[in-house]
Amino acid sequence: TTTATSKPQTSLDDIFISVKTTKNFHATRLDVIIKTWFTLAREQTWFFTDSDDEEYSEKTHNHLINTGCSASHNRMALCCKMAVEFDTFLESNKRWFCHFDDDNYVNVPQLVRMLQKHDWTDDWYLGKPSIKAPLEILDREHMPQKISFWFATGGAGFCLSRSLGLKMKPLASGGKFISIGDKIRLPDDVTMGYIVEHLLSKQLTVVEEFHSHLEPMKFLKQSHLAEQITFSYSHYGPEMNVLSLNGFNNQIDPYRFLSLHCNLYPNFSFCPR
Ligand code: UDP
Ligand code: MN
Repeated sequence: TTTATSKPQTSLDDIFISVKTTKNFHATRLDVIIKTWFTLAREQTWFFTDSDDEEYSEKTHNHLINTGCSASHNRMALCCKMAVEFDTFLESNKRWFCHFDDDNYVNVPQLVRMLQKHDWTDDWYLGKPSIKAPLEILDREHMPQKISFWFATGGAGFCLSRSLGLKMKPLASGGKFISIGDKIRLPDDVTMGYIVEHLLSKQLTVVEEFHSHLEPMKFLKQSHLAEQITFSYSHYGPEMNVLSLNGFNNQIDPYRFLSLHCNLYPNFSFCPR
């Protein structure tokens, strides 16, 4: 039975999914996303980049947003993109904001199930840190005092509830996110943690099922893949950090996301039958 105060269960359409990307990575990183998990969340997922690209605008069904931010990997440029992602979420009126990198595979149904366990009208910062202790930095306004806080690694993905987003709004919307990142001189995901944990005194809730390539992917067991929410890969010189699973050969699927998708959805169009 429903009452006037009960809230219908969160569904995929209540989530604003943003993927941070850059001009140079469209051709190398977006195709596999578009072919796999994006097909399950086309309406809800937006790519935030730094240039116009007709080919990928078309491939994403006009879900490629040119932030106008600079196309370099510096703190300012990355905070600029996160600021636009956050502002676009606020405008969307969705219940949840979930950020990912363009080297993430998002297990969409599992993301939805995880968010259903949390009330979007409460303050939630859900993600996974990749350091063993809270980050300690000098408090520039009260030297030599220190402050410490947790932050969710951007490359593992993280989510914010609308309730928390609205509390962050006066501090972080309309370009203020960039000013804060500039003041503390730290990357976008750290800036997010600083705003939530230090400025708003809300705590990060650890979601173990988020995985960045700072973790060894090969330790994720094939029998537990469906429970995980995000995956990633990295390729530094000769060193590959990728999922270890059966599927397509390494020429076709070097980063294993096609094989992962077929593992989760054996009947998908491009999967061997
Ligand atoms: N990125 C970006 N601008 C850049 C370089 C990277 O927006 O100049 C994005 C990239 O698309 C990805 C994220 O930042 O979503 C992290 O980049 P990458 O995986 O190359 O580096 P990492 O920090 O994971 O080593
Ligand atoms: Mn990465």
